[in-house]
Amino acid sequence: MTDSEKIFAEAVNYIPGGVNSPVRAFGSIGSVPRMIKRADGARLYDEDGREYIDFVCSWGPMILGHNHPEIRRAVQEACGRGLSFGAATRAEVEMAKLICESIPSVEMVRMVNSGTEAVMSAIRTARGFTGRDKIVKFAGCYHGHSDGLLVQAGSGALTAGIPDSAGVPEGCTRDTLSALYNDLSSVEELFRKFPEEIACVIVEPVAANMGVVLPEEGFLEGLRSLCDRYGALLVFDEVITGFRLCFGGAQEYFGVEADLAAYGKIIGAGMPVGAYGGRREIMERVAPLGPVYQAGTLSGNPVAMAAGYTQLSILKEHPAYYRELNEKADRFFGAMKEIVREKGASCRVNHIASLGCLFFTGEPVTDYRSAKTSDTKAYAAYCNAMLEAGFYPAPAQFEAMFLSMAHTEEDLEKALERISDII
Ligand SMILES: *Cc1c(COP(=O)(O)O)cnc(C)c1O
Repeated sequence: MTDSEKIFAEAVNYIPGGVNSPVRAFGSIGSVPRMIKRADGARLYDEDGREYIDFVCSWGPMILGHNHPEIRRAVQEACGRGLSFGAATRAEVEMAKLICESIPSVEMVRMVNSGTEAVMSAIRTARGFTGRDKIVKFAGCYHGHSDGLLVQAGSGALTAGIPDSAGVPEGCTRDTLSALYNDLSSVEELFRKFPEEIACVIVEPVAANMGVVLPEEGFLEGLRSLCDRYGALLVFDEVITGFRLCFGGAQEYFGVEADLAAYGKIIGAGMPVGAYGGRREIMERVAPLGPVYQAGTLSGNPVAMAAGYTQLSILKEHPAYYRELNEKADRFFGAMKEIVREKGASCRVNHIASLGCLFFTGEPVTDYRSAKTSDTKAYAAYCNAMLEAGFYPAPAQFEAMFLSMAHTEEDLEKALERISDII
């Protein structure tokens, strides 16, 4: 038994499934988690002394690579001043100002502790602002684990309100309507059915929780105009895309403005942080200014703010980083497509900026249905072979592959050679 296996054998006695978030369980690749001891740059090191080139990057936050010296220093300094005050601080104001200056549609922002909280609160705010109850989400889009958002499309295109998880009362999802990603007519149909009841449409501008699925030309613009026509708010879940596609996130990348946006992952640089923000008149509905209640004992935590603020500041000061990262990713995923083509493999590569996904299907992947045609057994075999060779891809097919500034051309070339051997 390896040390990872020994630790995991103990973990399952005390933690459900041995993990604190299901995708870490390695269940979908029929394996047990590699217990990670430390990370640096583009590399993870496990309890058994094995080293991996990391393509998960903590699911996105580590865009500058692990253990970045400036971020580490900022965190250590903040720790020296105390871990939490439960009172207002300068660091929160600086963070809020930086976010508002970075995203034109965000005039006010509230910090929370996770992406889940950010999206849940944005939706509450949208409902409070519009005085409407129903929301539209897309099949295959993940918005955290709050009750009302654990709804999948099911087989029918426009089925409403079937909870996806035990423990979610039907009452909690009754107002959650499901539409199809990249299918504006499915959204229009819902608006025609409930013209004055839909508070908001929530979307991952690039769907990155069913693998990676790009918005087709006109899809996001179409959502914008449908929301305008029916007086609903457009909410972008930018927990992955924010500060990832480019500094201004999906709103800048695609040139479509949202009314509210939710952030997480990158803005915490690895600390538990989320944020939601939008137009002033909407955000002024949030307590203590307005009637939409939302609170958090540790929200805007000074250590978390130090980490996030430092990372965002570095990204802001170096616009060239995004160009370099995205060009590096274009070459990497471009080469992966070339390998798939040369080998005649039954695979598809979807990619945008530093996000990508290798799907084990022969079909183009444009939505939840086509994503689900992937052969997850083939993915599992690929993933296990990659792990054996010292690469750490997401241990599940329906997750993104993340690149960071710390990945070198040499790291990526080695990964491509291995991928070429496997598929
Ligand atoms: C990760 C994620 C969330 C949830 O964030 P947590 O910090 O895990 O609660 C929400 N939306 C999207 C798009 C995500 O990728």
